[in-house]
Amino acid sequence: MTKEIEKTGLIHVYTGNGKGKTTAALGLALRAAGHNMRICVIMFLKGRSKYGEKNIASQINNIEIYAYGEDDLIIGNPASKDFEEAEEAFNHARHAIASKKYDIVILDELTHAINLGLIQLKHVMELINEKPIELELIITGRNSPSELLNVADYITEFNEKKHPYRKGIKARKGIEY
Ligand code: ATP
Ligand code: MG
Repeated sequence: MTKEIEKTGLIHVYTGNGKGKTTAALGLALRAAGHNMRICVIMFLKGRSKYGEKNIASQINNIEIYAYGEDDLIIGNPASKDFEEAEEAFNHARHAIASKKYDIVILDELTHAINLGLIQLKHVMELINEKPIELELIITGRNSPSELLNVADYITEFNEKKHPYRKGIKARKGIEY
């Protein structure tokens, strides 16, 4: 492997309806932080929820987590506040990527924000085209648009075979949030 290839950042998409997309991305962040790499996680649609990873990030060197949005459940049409939050999150993502301050940027639930119409896919494609060559970019969320899959280097689909939700078990602290 040549030095140039080693330095080229790749694009990951973690999609599908099964559990594990966000936690896989966070696991990768933890691994990279252990090599002193710098990681920025931008969570779309998760601002209000009490995700454990948001509480612990300040205690881990090199991992920054920023969360936007009301929650990841938008029932019906998004409200104007949802659009504003998504725009803010996306602008943050743009700046984080352009800043070259990070080795890895994780855009959590970005596909969900696209699918809800909060973020335009063409703007995401522009962002990907303009990303610094060495930046590793990770995008998570269900139902990834095919355009994103086309440019991805890694696509992992998490398929639900069983989920305790089906037995009426609600989201559990430390496991689902
Ligand atoms: P995780 O954050 O656990 O890695 P994920 O990112 O793959 O999961 P999302 O689709 O983002 O999954 O859903 C967020 C969390 O909510 C997941 O942990 C998932 O198990 C849980 N979840 C998804 N759908 C339901 C549901 N209908 N009822 C209860 N919990 C759910
Ligand atoms: Mg998720």
